[in-house]
Amino acid sequence: MPEKSVTRDFALEEVNKLIERHSDLPMEVVFKEDLLRRGIAFDDDMLRRAASFKLKSYFIFSFDRQPITDFQQQENLRSPEEIALVGGARGFRRTIVSVRNNPDSPYRVRCTEDDGFELSCDGESIAGVELQDLPSHYQRSLDNGKPLTEMAPTIEWGYLVYLTVYRKCQYFGFKEECQFCDINENFRQQKKAGRPYNTVKEVDEIVEALEILDELDTERKSQAYTITGGSVTRHLRGKEESDFYLQYVEAIEKRLPRRWISKMVIQALPAADLEPLRDAGTQIYHPNYEVWDPRLFAIICPGKERYVGRDEWMRRIVAAADIFGPSCVIPNFVAGVEMAKPHGFENVDDALESNREGLDYFMSRGITPRFTTWCPEPLSVLGSDQGPAPLEYHVGLLRVWRDTLAKHGLPAPPGYGQPGAGNAVFSVSSFMDVIPPETPVAALANGI
Ligand code: SF4
Repeated sequence: MPEKSVTRDFALEEVNKLIERHSDLPMEVVFKEDLLRRGIAFDDDMLRRAASFKLKSYFIFSFDRQPITDFQQQENLRSPEEIALVGGARGFRRTIVSVRNNPDSPYRVRCTEDDGFELSCDGESIAGVELQDLPSHYQRSLDNGKPLTEMAPTIEWGYLVYLTVYRKCQYFGFKEECQFCDINENFRQQKKAGRPYNTVKEVDEIVEALEILDELDTERKSQAYTITGGSVTRHLRGKEESDFYLQYVEAIEKRLPRRWISKMVIQALPAADLEPLRDAGTQIYHPNYEVWDPRLFAIICPGKERYVGRDEWMRRIVAAADIFGPSCVIPNFVAGVEMAKPHGFENVDDALESNREGLDYFMSRGITPRFTTWCPEPLSVLGSDQGPAPLEYHVGLLRVWRDTLAKHGLPAPPGYGQPGAGNAVFSVSSFMDVIPPETPVAALANGI
């Protein structure tokens, strides 16, 4: 009888090699990037105990490597929002990682004999794991019964209140949606699975949720909020995109002025639409460009290409610096999508070079892009039939980003807490973990 062939993916071997090759980067970030691109598996015992901690809220996208229908352990209802890696044989400095469920991952979190948790890779123990306590506002609801876990979830270990006030996007279907994005499909799968998602959150509901959060957050763990949602290409409740999102910041800042750093993630809009947002209290603006390469932008972001156009998108980012101040314009890109098949770069060096060019373009103007690590979500176009970008790319990008920031003498971007390994709380990529901890954080232009 022929032997059954076994394919093994030696994840840990690759991680160890990259740690050696990139010895000037914190070793923690190599694991963090690999966890973000591959996802994490959980033992059932661990998930049972995780129930009393803070659970994944699905604050906008799925950020999972499998659809809900494939989960055998109800990971969508039972996994933590984030994990903190600490100590262990490798002496981890505290490293906060967003959870991307993947029962097939070589990374697994399990219970230890002394009532703790640990992370293993290919069966080898890597680090201790801590979970975040359940925030007290997660146990409350609005007067109309809607849970605060849906209205005002927090991420980044409690630092950021994530207000997805519009849970769909008017870029619709594969000819318009960004090809890495599952916002509309995730909405459908979460509703089907019984999660209390609302398409649009009312302004009054958001203010009420923040009043409760403010009252209960006596230690002021939450320090920033983000207002965001899908793009509005036509009208939403009779308003254009800027007016729709404006009403939330106006109401929040009127009721609780400067309680939090105020951020907004919306499209790259003309300057005339941005001024009212700034005047209402928005301090940090994220006009995400997703991918720098012009050819790939048109393919990966077909809706943005069609409605705004790539060059105009980049021009608007630069023009926004006159309104918010350069360091408070922080566009995001999705690190790794430029290597996705069939149109992406075929080798790591070309992909990194493209990013270096984009970072140089913005950072030479005082604007600091940041990135999230691409998680190929199976309900998105690009994630439906392929895995993530190589780990070598993600680790190389951290060096490119850190070195370009240093080359232009820029401070750490504001609104992310303290930089440096052991300090950083940003959980969906390691850009804050690789900034030297002594680097000053940029001041807010209309500061608090
Ligand atoms: S603009 Fe693109 S990334 Fe943003 S929600 Fe719409 S489809 Fe997703």
